[in-house]
Amino acid sequence: MKQTILVTGGTGFIGSHTTVELIQAGYNVVIADNLSNSKREVIGGIKKITGIEPAFEFIDLCNKEATREMLQRYRIDGIIHFAASKAVGESVEKPLMYYRNNITSLVNLLELMPEHNIKGVIFSSSCTVYGQPRPENLPVTEDAPHQKATSPYGNTKEINEQIIQDYIHSGAPIKSIVLRYFNPIGAHPSALIGELPNGKPNNLIPYVTQTAMGILEQLTIFGNDYDTPDGTCIRDYIYVVDLAKAHVAAMTRVLKKDTAALEYFNIGTGRGNSTREIVETFEKATGVKLNYTYGPRRAGDIEKIWGDCTKANTILGWKADTPLEDVLVSAWKWQLKLREDGVM
Ligand code: UDP
Repeated sequence: MKQTILVTGGTGFIGSHTTVELIQAGYNVVIADNLSNSKREVIGGIKKITGIEPAFEFIDLCNKEATREMLQRYRIDGIIHFAASKAVGESVEKPLMYYRNNITSLVNLLELMPEHNIKGVIFSSSCTVYGQPRPENLPVTEDAPHQKATSPYGNTKEINEQIIQDYIHSGAPIKSIVLRYFNPIGAHPSALIGELPNGKPNNLIPYVTQTAMGILEQLTIFGNDYDTPDGTCIRDYIYVVDLAKAHVAAMTRVLKKDTAALEYFNIGTGRGNSTREIVETFEKATGVKLNYTYGPRRAGDIEKIWGDCTKANTILGWKADTPLEDVLVSAWKWQLKLREDGVM
């Protein structure tokens, strides 16, 4: 019999791509989302790609009674918990909103899991927990020391990791896999789902594609005097479809009988690319010239980080293998589709 996975935040950027991969791997999916930063039409994109329309529940997971009532209507085997507020800047302005949304929803789900005999949860964490690793700790492994978060958003990732750990250590009858993502980018190759724009982008890739489209005038590369080969910051950019597949592998593993109660995996490519390399690769892969300039450093930016993903490669049997050129082309195709659809 097919297993059923509850994907919270399933109409979001990573959630929608993961829903597609879960369906294609033979799982039933129920999406729970309050559409605070996504659109219901995403379901249509998922259906076009997979031929299957996942169940959709419009729900605020901070409402425990509503969440309980929803869980009573399905037989859920596992949960992938994406739903969270995620804008770093906004979290500095509205810390309590971030603590309430991101922490209450997790606590509610964890409390409800045993009640509904739900065995496993995959939690979306972030390499932000590592802060700026010491040079000798690069690429960063899962046991690298954590550093104090620089924003309430980052802190909710750290706190939620701690909550899961404390709960499982208390003997709770659940298991969890925590995935620490590096920088998710790109869109499904069909261009039927992708990252929905929400105001002026903060992240590099939407900024690049919107500049290439002429929506934004110019990209500013924040700083070219860092201690890196070309002076610009380095990140581990992971294709969202590869990232989605990591969730399928993690879900399959967490629901197996003989695996550990709690595991952590870095999910990245294992490779670092500088901001300048991203810009140059984008130009080369798409043939579109980008109007860019160098500006001052962005406050709070990490200089360089990339992941050692050997653990995920060996234990999950998963590897990010999409070439960067293809990933950047997918992001550009998505931007062209947004234009075609009159979104922007
Ligand atoms: N970046 C940039 N210009 C922009 C947006 C981002 O130079 O308009 C750089 C940023 O300084 C960082 C990298 O691109 O070095 C990735 O930034 P993003 O915000 O996407 O991810 P994060 O900093 O959270 O890893």
